[in-house]
Amino acid sequence: MRIEVLFDKEAKNKTLRTGWGVSFLVEEKVLFDTGENGAWLTENMKILNVNIDKIKAVVISHDHWDHQGGLWELLKRKKGLTIYACPNFSAEFKDKAKKLNGNLKGTKNITETSKNIFVTGEITGEYKGEYMPEQALVVKTNKGISVITGCAHPGIIKMLNTVKKNFPKEDIYAVLGGFHLMDKDKMLIEIIADEFKKIGVKKVGATHCSGPRAEEIFKLKYKKDFLPIKAGAEIKV
Ligand SMILES: [Zn+2]
Ligand SMILES: [Zn+2]
Repeated sequence: MRIEVLFDKEAKNKTLRTGWGVSFLVEEKVLFDTGENGAWLTENMKILNVNIDKIKAVVISHDHWDHQGGLWELLKRKKGLTIYACPNFSAEFKDKAKKLNGNLKGTKNITETSKNIFVTGEITGEYKGEYMPEQALVVKTNKGISVITGCAHPGIIKMLNTVKKNFPKEDIYAVLGGFHLMDKDKMLIEIIADEFKKIGVKKVGATHCSGPRAEEIFKLKYKKDFLPIKAGAEIKV
């Protein structure tokens, strides 16, 4: 399957907008997160020849501005768009989605959004002392399963273990997205990277809030299997 990076802190060329947050498009039909700004996201979509009409659903990883920020502009352009959100997202998020005629679906457990494209459902997490539920996207192909994360506030290893529990027979091929290791020290990041190896993750694309230190450590450990994530990049899984 084809995963396109629509928004990131870096881009493959200067015409593309960059900023905080991420947005990944899977097989032209399932969008995972929307970055911080709808105008910038839709600009990138235009440059990358993304057909908004083909997008069947948007999965929002968690209720933070840099992940749901672009959603509102999309809802204005695509009436009745299906949104997969965690049941415990804020009332403000839910009200706004409903006001803009979004078809809001709360995902408590693993849910197939489209053939072989799943969302984990709510995983409990915390951010700065507050409850912050989060979900990841899981793509199943003959290479194994690939996981895309927003910020991984519940903890990236906890999220991978949840995915493993749901797909006990599958190997994890790639893990892409934000791992929220920005404020973690070198030793802890190395333990986490070793844990990735133990779990059997074959390719890693750390970006966003993973932080420069974690990107460096994963790059060293994964060498050619480290996937650079930038707006305009494409990953085959
Ligand atoms: Zn984030
Ligand atoms: Zn976040």
